[in-house]
Amino acid sequence: MLVYGPVPSRRLGHSLGIDLIPLKICSYDCIYCQLGRTTDKTIKRREYAAADDILADLQQVLTTGAKPDYITLAGSGEPTLNSMIGEVVARIKQLTDIPVVILTNGSLFWQPEVRQACLQADIIAPSLDAADEKTFHRINLPHPDVTFENMTRGLIDLRREYRGEIWLEILLLKGINDSLKAAEDFKYWIEQIKPDKVQLNTSVRPGTKLEILRLSQDELETIRDYIGGKTEIIATISPVHNKQEHTADQDHVLDMIRRRPCTLEDVANGLNLHRNSALKYLSDLERQGKIQYREHQGSRFYQAYS
Ligand code: SF4
Repeated sequence: MLVYGPVPSRRLGHSLGIDLIPLKICSYDCIYCQLGRTTDKTIKRREYAAADDILADLQQVLTTGAKPDYITLAGSGEPTLNSMIGEVVARIKQLTDIPVVILTNGSLFWQPEVRQACLQADIIAPSLDAADEKTFHRINLPHPDVTFENMTRGLIDLRREYRGEIWLEILLLKGINDSLKAAEDFKYWIEQIKPDKVQLNTSVRPGTKLEILRLSQDELETIRDYIGGKTEIIATISPVHNKQEHTADQDHVLDMIRRRPCTLEDVANGLNLHRNSALKYLSDLERQGKIQYREHQGSRFYQAYS
């Protein structure tokens, strides 16, 4: 299935995900990536998943499952690398009035055809993890053709052309991009890009480098207050507000965990399961040797064996 969820999203409530890119094709290789190392670092756009297949899956899920708050185009890599993203957005808009969101690393908007392909989305949520070239390379390890300059220029051009909302996510990592100097530089770029919202996040899931520590709530609040304006903190799971019934079984749980490490609460909220049912599925999967768990900063994350 190219459609998964709904999953609980820190930004989007109950979000039905569409996987436009296979694991793990990306223009970045971020040090905090929860999907593991990038195996194909590229900026070459291709039809990684066919629009017909995506729409057929989506139609089926929408007729049988609970209505999600958003339909989110994402992937096990960078979704704008799928050359059919424009057609997918246009056909979803014909199918339903559920708002369409593109979750992107924002690295490719310097290409006019990428901006053009995303114009029909309701929300574009790009990342900006660094406010200077050096930190950009340290955190995002971009493809050689993606420079800090063309990435930021692309976001500025997107704002000029795009009428929907831009929610800019900044992921803060302790000791790397969380200084007041960095906050000052972020302010500069925020003024240039002019997003509708700035959303501060931090590394809350097991990443590829476990020495990276997340910021505390107090540290996030200090930076939020310093940046000011429309800045908010999204580094906690937002409460579930869609209570429609959703019948999930053990395969749904395994499918969700294969896409990213999840806590018991993620599984219960994302699949609308009672906590005890989610725990039972997780215990059964663990007994079958399909998943394992590990503790990370006070939370237990379940991961699938690859
Ligand atoms: S952009 Fe996203 S998918 Fe790509 S490496 Fe970074 S976190 Fe992972």
